[in-house]
Amino acid sequence: MTALAFVHEDSPTRVLFAPGSLSRLGDEAGRLNLERVLVVSTVQQIRHLEQAAAALGARLAGSFAGAAMHTPVEVTNEALALVRKSQADGLVAIGGGSAIGLAKALALRTDLPQIVVPTTYAGSEATPILGETKEGRKTTQRSAKVLPEVILYDVELSLSLPVALSVSSGLNAIAHAAEALYAEDRNPVIQVVAEEAVRVLAAALPRIHTQPSDLTARSEALYGAWLCGTCLGAVGMALHHKICHTLGGAFGLPHAETHAVMLPHALAYNLSAARDAGRRLSRALNDQDPALALFRLARSLGAPSALRDLGMPQGALDEAADLAVQNPYANPRPVERMEIRAMLARAWSGDSPVGWGFNVAAQ
Ligand code: NAD
Repeated sequence: MTALAFVHEDSPTRVLFAPGSLSRLGDEAGRLNLERVLVVSTVQQIRHLEQAAAALGARLAGSFAGAAMHTPVEVTNEALALVRKSQADGLVAIGGGSAIGLAKALALRTDLPQIVVPTTYAGSEATPILGETKEGRKTTQRSAKVLPEVILYDVELSLSLPVALSVSSGLNAIAHAAEALYAEDRNPVIQVVAEEAVRVLAAALPRIHTQPSDLTARSEALYGAWLCGTCLGAVGMALHHKICHTLGGAFGLPHAETHAVMLPHALAYNLSAARDAGRRLSRALNDQDPALALFRLARSLGAPSALRDLGMPQGALDEAADLAVQNPYANPRPVERMEIRAMLARAWSGDSPVGWGFNVAAQ
């Protein structure tokens, strides 16, 4: 037995979770004394942007529909000009991580308060993390300035998220909670949150896959996504996130889908060195072998299961293994180049995760 010792910081963000809660946007802006609010989103979500604008009524100062994946600095500068021109005193983001990333980038530069309305399961709304892209290079920073003042979860807005996106976004979220369970700086609060997050999301995704308009399943997935985002914001990520960042950055692989493919393999690699995390994941997934359970879950939901299907060249696996072991994130198990190369080969082919694994019965 070892005595408990940990650090945990609670987020100051107000979270409002209710179906139809977008109609409360004006009141929430009023609570923050905002009179001139700029709404940001992507062009694909003009309808949601218009709904948010209508909900703000007389408090609306303008709107910007140019948000893009990975928060390009040029887009932020364009939106920043509009913030100044419209004399905005607050920001609303409605959409996924792209819209929310833009509001965070604006808040970093202006200190304006943000109300964010997430419509995917990416979880960015719950983190003090901002990733930005300049001249093709992505850099990430942590700052309390980018944390929203209010998160407004309205499940009705997530109904239009296509099933394939819902699945990959949900699996991406599960990866945040799974790695939080063996994070070097994990704490008992986050361990409870992470286990619940995996349980809730893993149960909701198959129901969304079968019936995309199932409001209960959708709201449970959104709740799970918030918990997963909370984990991502609170503790450091490990090998799985390092590999996904490497594959996305160096080979342009799609963000959420790469997470979906790699997670079972990364867990198979790590869990033998992270037994408590393995036991919690087993409980959450109701399966003796959590890595295999997630592999089967992703397959059953039609998620991609092979890096080759995401456009990863087989000839680049050596380079990917080299990059993945450079500047490793803190990880429960030593990161060995040969074993990472073998894991990448299995993930490239779409083979099931094997090797080191974790099995409750064997522990
Ligand atoms: P996204 O925001 O790019 O959304 C994907 C597409 O789906 C967009 O076209 C969007 O408009 C559309 N969409 C979103 N919700 C919809 C809905 N309900 N109905 C119909 N269409 C909808 O994708 P994402 O996966 O949410 O976010 C990815 C971005 O977020 C990446 O840039 C990633 O790096 C970032 N991210 C950041 C953090 C963080 O903590 N900083 C965490 C997770 C993700």
